Amino acid sequence: MAFDTTSAKSNLALIDFVENYLKDRGIASTRVPSPDGAKADLFVTIGSERVGGIGLSGHSDCVPVEGQTWTSDPFVLTERDGKLFGRGSCDMKGFIACVLASVPSFTARALNEPVHIIISYDEEVGCTGVRPLLARLGEDLPRPRAVIVGEPTSMAVIDAHKRIDLYRTRVTGREAHSSMPELGVNAIDAAAALIGELGRNGARIAEQQNDARFLPPHSTLCVGTIEGGTAPNIVPKHCAFQWQVRSLPTADPEELPRDLASFAESDLLPGMRRISKDAKIATETLGSVPAFVAAPGSEAVALALALTGADRAGAVSYTTEAGLFEESGVPAVICGPGNIEQAHAADEYVAISQLEACLDFLGSLAGRLSSADQAPVKAAGSNR
Ligand SMILES: [Zn+2]
Repeated sequence: MAFDTTSAKSNLALIDFVENYLKDRGIASTRVPSPDGAKADLFVTIGSERVGGIGLSGHSDCVPVEGQTWTSDPFVLTERDGKLFGRGSCDMKGFIACVLASVPSFTARALNEPVHIIISYDEEVGCTGVRPLLARLGEDLPRPRAVIVGEPTSMAVIDAHKRIDLYRTRVTGREAHSSMPELGVNAIDAAAALIGELGRNGARIAEQQNDARFLPPHSTLCVGTIEGGTAPNIVPKHCAFQWQVRSLPTADPEELPRDLASFAESDLLPGMRRISKDAKIATETLGSVPAFVAAPGSEAVALALALTGADRAGAVSYTTEAGLFEESGVPAVICGPGNIEQAHAADEYVAISQLEACLDFLGSLAGRLSSADQAPVKAAGSNR
């Protein structure tokens, strides 16, 4: 927690610390640096060099504290009432700490297959940091046969999550004196019409879709920022807004941007272009995080169910790196300590009891990977 690894900052001090902690225990790490060298992923293998193995994955970055009111210093781990407060305690340094604390129990055993520790950066800004590491799995880094992503699930087993697409729509109009608005093309008016259309389309999708595994049971839409205009007495030439869609895994992620473009083309642009031929409405994609749906009979889900004793897996509406692992051919499952309600909030905390449950989970994993009569986990139990 004392390493301020807000996504905009370097995570190298934390990575140094983890590397040294592991080196003291005779374990080598591989860094996968960011393009500018200011951040790095870490990939660590413990145990036999055999292929396969189980990945334990966490992101090192956390969201900003600016604008939040904290009872105690967010970068000083503080215990109150059986809870550990601090930025990242829940999302998700608690899991990383449990994994590091479990290293001695992994090294003390003769593991039949390796444990891989995977620490990423820039998860909170579109899951971009793990992507260069994923590209090396099966190349110069071993590809785990399953990965457990330790995002806060209160140690429940999660086998699906929604997708995110982030867009920016820019409207270009024409400036004019506000006493003669008919000579201008008001970019803010057009943006307001577009946002109204997005709202109607979002409501339509909410009516049409219903997947009870997710809460809410449909794709959702949020216009999150808007900027535009120069002064109250100038017809504004520019307006831009950012909007985000969180889609069900089964939904068509192109539907809302397509509908918005056709509304712009049919309802807005003809009138705008009559006044200014340079009038424009353009939407660009700023980033996407794929949905996660574990493959039927997933080894990763079966393993997490066996380790937790749960009889079924659930689904969540927040995104993680799990979909990216699954896409790169590594079966994934999400299971980690802490409640997502505390993530990103002021006074973020993880309950000590959650960390204890996670340590038990990792202890069971160590036992399973080293037991002489290691039975393959049964691929069953998902209610998907
Ligand atoms: Zn997280």
